[in-house]
Amino acid sequence: LEAIATVEPRIAEATRQELADQRASLKLIASENYASPAVLLTMGTWFSDKYAEGTVGHRFYAGCQNVDTVEALAAEHARELFGAEYAYVQPHSGIDANLVAYWSILAHRVEAPGLEKLGAKNVNELSEADWESLRGQLGNQRLLGMSLDAGGHLTHGFRPNISGKMFYQHQYGTDPETGLLDYDSVAAKAREFKPLIIVAGYSAYPRRVNFAKMREIADEVGATLMVDMAHFAGLVAGKVFTGDEDPVPHAQVVTTTTHKSLRGPRGGMVLATEEFAPEVDRGCPMVLGGPLSHMMAAKAVALAEARQDSFRTYAQRVADNAKSLADGFLKRGARLVTGGTDNHLVLVDVSTFGLTGRQAESALLDAGVVTNRNSVPADPNGAWYTSGVRLGTPALTTRGFGHDEFDRVAELIVDVLSNTEPGTTKAGTPSKASYVLGDGVAAKTKDASAEM
Ligand code: PLP
Repeated sequence: LEAIATVEPRIAEATRQELADQRASLKLIASENYASPAVLLTMGTWFSDKYAEGTVGHRFYAGCQNVDTVEALAAEHARELFGAEYAYVQPHSGIDANLVAYWSILAHRVEAPGLEKLGAKNVNELSEADWESLRGQLGNQRLLGMSLDAGGHLTHGFRPNISGKMFYQHQYGTDPETGLLDYDSVAAKAREFKPLIIVAGYSAYPRRVNFAKMREIADEVGATLMVDMAHFAGLVAGKVFTGDEDPVPHAQVVTTTTHKSLRGPRGGMVLATEEFAPEVDRGCPMVLGGPLSHMMAAKAVALAEARQDSFRTYAQRVADNAKSLADGFLKRGARLVTGGTDNHLVLVDVSTFGLTGRQAESALLDAGVVTNRNSVPADPNGAWYTSGVRLGTPALTTRGFGHDEFDRVAELIVDVLSNTEPGTTKAGTPSKASYVLGDGVAAKTKDASAEM
């Protein structure tokens, strides 16, 4: 920090303050964690200065021998950890990983057969007219993903996201009574819509998914199954999710972030079967430019950590702690979406406290509990105000919290929410004394999804 302070002291100060704030609060954001010192240090090296477009042994720049070592090691750890046939570790983020996956599937399923029919090896050989016709087919495909309010992610076909514009998209939800995935209803939608790609995976669904069933559905309609395991990759790595709950043996393409339950640096990754590997391997230049070599190095370190026995213990504790947190809420009368959890997250419906998600999030922040508001299924308050708060156990489990601590966390949250009243003060600056908040009743019904 001293070196930073000599150049821009305000950045040094903000960095120091961030550490102090993270230490002073309870981090319950389900997508966050604490990376190890080894991972943090690896992110800050001179690999950051190196350009390395291309792939291992096949670069568009000279002098990439050490980046080759780093990328090959990160991919090897990923393949070994997840039992994947192929791993691509270049994506800078989860959204990049999903874009690489989508374009790889399109290249494999639509572009390659199109080129073959036209007698060309690559798109550069095509005449303008043939290229136009192939482009038309690429832009005419269908995607079926989980809806945002049921727990899916923006990149699974949400209209304001690029995925909702690249594809004709359709969404599946959850059973309105139970909040659980209804595989028969997913199958019915797939039969009717006939998508090229079915996306499984979630950001806010507090249950496990049967990926074997999802693959059956995909096979029946001729779709490729893509699983976005960004949120629960740590539980897959730690062998908490096995068999039908492990996406890797069932999906042709699996994407993930590396910074959530997997506890690595910020970044993304794509795993694939041999069949899809050649297209995924062309993520650069298809979607990406120069990979972030320092981040690939940090991914290698984090993946090596995740291959240790201690990570399995950690992952099991993440899931056990989520149950303790859920039980803590249920015994104090709170309502949880799906009535509980069997992964790393809990979704509390705060409407029973007479609050919007936004109000609850502000009140909890004021009490030193960092969460994020989240839609609940068929949320009447829209995606901006919401009716839920999403909580996750990965970060506090890293800090050593166990059953008793998570029970206390539930008690604290119920206490804060029960003593919070919707008021008229400015949103985000709640009164410390009374937890009086903004976003009054009139605001509650405003559908602000357009603001996203
Ligand atoms: N996929 C899922 C399921 C996510 O939950 C997220 C992020 O929250 C992403 C993708 C996007 O990851 P990133 O923020 O790294 O782009």
